Parts: sequence; structure tokens; C-alpha cells
Amino acid sequence: MTARWPLHPPPSEGEALTSWLSRLAEVYGLSVEELIRHNLGSPGRDLLDHRTSALDLNPPSVVLSVLAERTGVPLDQLRHMTIAGQVPWLVDTLDSEPVSGEAFDTYVHQDSVLLTAKERPGRQVPGWRAWLPTDPKRGPLRRACPTCQSTSAAGTFGFTLISQLPLTLSCPHHGCYLEPAFGGLGAFAAWEEQDTRARAAPAAVFVMDARTHQALRTGTVTLPRRSVHAGVWFRLLRTLIDELSGPVSALRTRSHRSVRRIWHTAGHPIRAGMVAPWHPYESLPRARQQMLLEAAAATLDLIETGEVIAHGTLASLLTPEPHRPVPDGTPPDRHYWQEAEDALNTAIALAQHDPAAARQLLATLTALTRSEATFQRIRDDLIALGIPDDHLPPTLAEQRARQIPANACHILSDDPSQDIE
Ligand SMILES: [Zn+2]
Repeated sequence: MTARWPLHPPPSEGEALTSWLSRLAEVYGLSVEELIRHNLGSPGRDLLDHRTSALDLNPPSVVLSVLAERTGVPLDQLRHMTIAGQVPWLVDTLDSEPVSGEAFDTYVHQDSVLLTAKERPGRQVPGWRAWLPTDPKRGPLRRACPTCQSTSAAGTFGFTLISQLPLTLSCPHHGCYLEPAFGGLGAFAAWEEQDTRARAAPAAVFVMDARTHQALRTGTVTLPRRSVHAGVWFRLLRTLIDELSGPVSALRTRSHRSVRRIWHTAGHPIRAGMVAPWHPYESLPRARQQMLLEAAAATLDLIETGEVIAHGTLASLLTPEPHRPVPDGTPPDRHYWQEAEDALNTAIALAQHDPAAARQLLATLTALTRSEATFQRIRDDLIALGIPDDHLPPTLAEQRARQIPANACHILSDDPSQDIE
């Protein structure tokens, strides 16, 4: 039986597996590599490569099982500290795709947000995985919140899993930008920029990120129309980013205008300044990813406030249900078509027994026709509904000769003033 480690700090909310292992190792005066080699068997070189962070991506199940035994942290919680633990909501799968290009097509092109499907060119992106670097050597982002870093008690600060992905821009606790940092295997080393300080993120960014954090934490997201599953939110966001990064030449005039307004609001050049051939978001430099996320946040805000109209299949989720006032103490809205249908059924029932009602009904239904053929067709319909033949004038001419009111709206109305003499 595996021995339980005597002392261990618990994982913090949203923390990445390597970050927690790094804090654990520090308690024992070890490096993460030593902690894993001495306690969790002999992992391959890839697992301990701090550039690829394979431990945060998809660690072998045996590593997680031994860790669960050593620390008492449930296996499910440990899996949730890795990207593999977010499958299939954040990423469809980490396995290779059965059909080349299928993953991108399914995740990004199945739905639309701002644009219509016709305004978006199809793309072939083989081997693509949502939010993960297309170049495996590129490694994850290293970002952290300056306020969290400077105010955390000793030994408690770590990288979150989400801060490694180009999925959010801000800290959920302080609302400031995540800033680039240097770090080894899960451990914060230093800020990339020497004078890094907390910078407030725009409100629209904070709102968008709050939803993403809610998705990861609870599995659902509250949108203006209704709550949706986390999987819908991640795809909505990635689809919107794709719409904003495509060439504007394919857009209709109204969409072109919306896209220009969005980029102006975000304070960045259209398409984050890209003029080169199209590349998937995951392969773009960090600065362009940040601009696209800010533009996505601006788009969501402009759609929600009604300043930009979205035309995609998911657009309705982003606007509130239309206002339907219910007056105090008065009956709800009348359903006029239902009332008309009810009145017609009553008229048919009367006409089955009352010749005068039958003549009135036929006159009403044929009031707008001068065609004998149409008159006969409607007459036949009434006979089929059980109104006796001899209750009805045999021809249009005879109906007129009997001077039955041509407009017999009073069948459908209580208002006697509508009767024609
Ligand atoms: Zn923070």
C-alpha cells in the first residue's frame, strides 16, 4: 500500500496540476522532478518537459492514481486540474481525429454568432485542438495576476490551469489583466516585464471572463436569454473569435459595418491587424490573441446592449427575452386567431341545423369572390363539414339574388354596427 505523505497543502481553486505539485515539492525541499521520480515512478521525459507541460495536459492515469493515494485528494479533483479533465466540454477529445479537419469543423463551424454561415469561408485545419497550441513545442501560456501574486501568503500562490490557455484575459478575483511571467514546471519565477503592475481589464472583458470561469467551475453559464451548458459557451466563444479573424471581403455590408464598429470599440485594428494569410487563433502570437479576445468581449457587450445585431444561429442566446408586460388585473393578451377559429367552429355547428346561419356562413366565406368555381368549391367544403345541401344557395348568382348580406362579419363579432343592411 502506498504511504500517505505527512504534510501537503491542498490544491487551490482552478489550480493547474503542475502548480500544485510544485508547491508540494517545495514543502519537502524537492524539485517537481525529484518529487515525481522518487514518489510516482519513473515518468518519461515528455512528462517533465516544462515547455510542453504534458503533466497539465494529459498525465498518465497511474500518476494521478498514486497522487490520489499519497495526498488523499480525490481522483476526480486531480483530473479536473488537467486539460484532459475538461474533455469533452472545453476540448472535444485529446485523441487524434478520425477524419482530418473534422475537429475544427465540428467545434468552430457547426454554429455561428455574429455572421451568417454564408459569410464564413470553410477551413481545413488538420490535427487542430481547441485552445491548445498548434505547435506542441510552443508550450502553454505563463500568465498570472499581479495582485494575486503580491498578496498571497507564502507557499500558496500558483498558476491556474485556465491562465495557461488563450481563453481569458483577466483574474476572476481582482478583474486585472493576467500578465506574462516566467515559470518552470508549475512554479512562478518572475514577471516577463520588470515593472509589471496590476492593470484593470475593460468591463466587457471581465464580464466575458466571468462567464468562462463560471463555465469551468460549475459546468453552466448564465446568458441573457437562458443558462447554457459550458460546452455551448466555449464553442460560442471560439466561433465568435473565428468570425472576427476572417477576411472582411466576404462580408455583407451590414456585417462589415458591425465588424468595423466592434474593432473600433475594442480599440484595435480590424482582424487584430492581420493582413497575412489566415491562421487559426491557436497559432497566433499572444498579442494578437489578446486583441481578438478583447474584440470578442466588445462584440458580446454590443450585441447584449442592442448596438450590434447578430445574425448567427447562437445569436438569440445573447439578447434578453422580448418584454411581454402583463397588465395588473386585466386579462392577458387576446389570441385573435384562436378566437376567430372558435367563432368559425360555432358558426359551422349552427349552420348544420339552421338554414339562415348556413346562408350567412357561405356568404361570409365567399364575400370576396366573383368566381362561380370558387363559390362552388367553398360550398362543397361546407357540405363536407356536415352542412346540409339544401341549406345553401346553389349558385353565386342565386346567393346575390337573395340579397343576403355580403359582409356578414357579425358571425365573428358582437358589434351590430358591422352589419350591412
Ligand atoms: Zn488576482
